Amino acid sequence: MSTFQDLGLQDNLLQAITDLGFETPSEVQKKAIPILLDEETDLVALAQTGTGKTAAFGFPMLQKINVDSRTTQGLILSPTRELCLQIANELKLYGKYCKGLNVTAIYGGASITEQAKQVKRGAQIIVATPGRMKDMISRRMVDISKIEYSVLDEADEMLNMGFYEDITSILSHTPNDKSTWLFSATMPKEVATIAKEFMYNPKEITVGHKNEGSKNVSHEYYLVNSRDRYQALKRLADANPDIFSVVFCRTKRDTQKVAEQLIEDGYNAGALHGDLSQNQRDLVMKAFRNNQIQMLVATDVAARGIDVDDVTHVINYQLPDEIETYTHRSGRTGRAGKTGVSMVIISKSEVRKIKSIERIIKKQFEKKSIPDGSVICE
Ligand code: ADP
Ligand code: MG
Repeated sequence: MSTFQDLGLQDNLLQAITDLGFETPSEVQKKAIPILLDEETDLVALAQTGTGKTAAFGFPMLQKINVDSRTTQGLILSPTRELCLQIANELKLYGKYCKGLNVTAIYGGASITEQAKQVKRGAQIIVATPGRMKDMISRRMVDISKIEYSVLDEADEMLNMGFYEDITSILSHTPNDKSTWLFSATMPKEVATIAKEFMYNPKEITVGHKNEGSKNVSHEYYLVNSRDRYQALKRLADANPDIFSVVFCRTKRDTQKVAEQLIEDGYNAGALHGDLSQNQRDLVMKAFRNNQIQMLVATDVAARGIDVDDVTHVINYQLPDEIETYTHRSGRTGRAGKTGVSMVIISKSEVRKIKSIERIIKKQFEKKSIPDGSVICE
């Protein structure tokens, strides 16, 4: 049985791990950490969401960078603002005993001059969204010419979101001899392409099956008439009074509408989507993290990779267009060894999609009825 100590981590990091209450390393951590500590190598690591990928690259990076220098040595690219903040906060916790450590998050929707100031104070590690990073490079607000370690986190999502060009452009400003570590839940061909293009002879590790969902999540679907979708959502919430959930809608408009309706009907809900200001998004996320909101109604983009403990249910108010997105959605629950339920509210015409999802996640759905039967199901 390997421990964090066996993986080769230094005392100051082990101390932080003890404080965090992490008892044993997760599979991806067991595989990735020794490789990354041991050699200067490129790495492709595939592991489903919620398996501790942040720590898998975070600890090796913290051990390898020189905190006595004020040069930016590590660059982590991540798809959304929320994730940037989340990763930066995690790294600060992991590095709480690394004296002099400066981790800075860079993302759109907040003051660029303020972020530039923070970088200037000597950020050894920058966690950035591709868009804002590119912007700051072109304004010469950051210098990434001495980067030694770059991480492409949630690579599949970044590419899904159309960041290919930005990533290419950013990496062209980094040294050729840096190490690149790519972390992803799934391996679509776009990720394979980027690995081929930007990495030299990468080592590869895979945990579980590619694209497979978490073992801790059970899947249920509820067949309803399309016009009864909202009623069905309310009945599901009523039947689970302690629910703490992310409710996924397909569009920003539906997201806003469903959240507003829930609030009007007396539920503890909030909306998270790209048409809100950064400040609004931060407030909603904060309220959700503090359990002040029970139902976070969100678009896929806004909720990507969000790691909130104890999410009990993921509700697919509408199924995503891309079936692979389902794996990401359901990965918001069942994290860090806990169990969760992923529910799909579905109309008759969509039932065949359930079969396709089952093939991808390698799990069966349970067909269930809306609790009090007041919603007419076909
Ligand atoms: P991923 O990036 O793979 O989706 P995260 O890095 O966000 O997963 O980690 C998921 C959760 O698991 C986080 O809350 C993190 O603090 C926790 N975690 C990570 N590693 C461990 C561990 N070894 N033991 C217990 N909890 C862990
Ligand atoms: Mg992650």
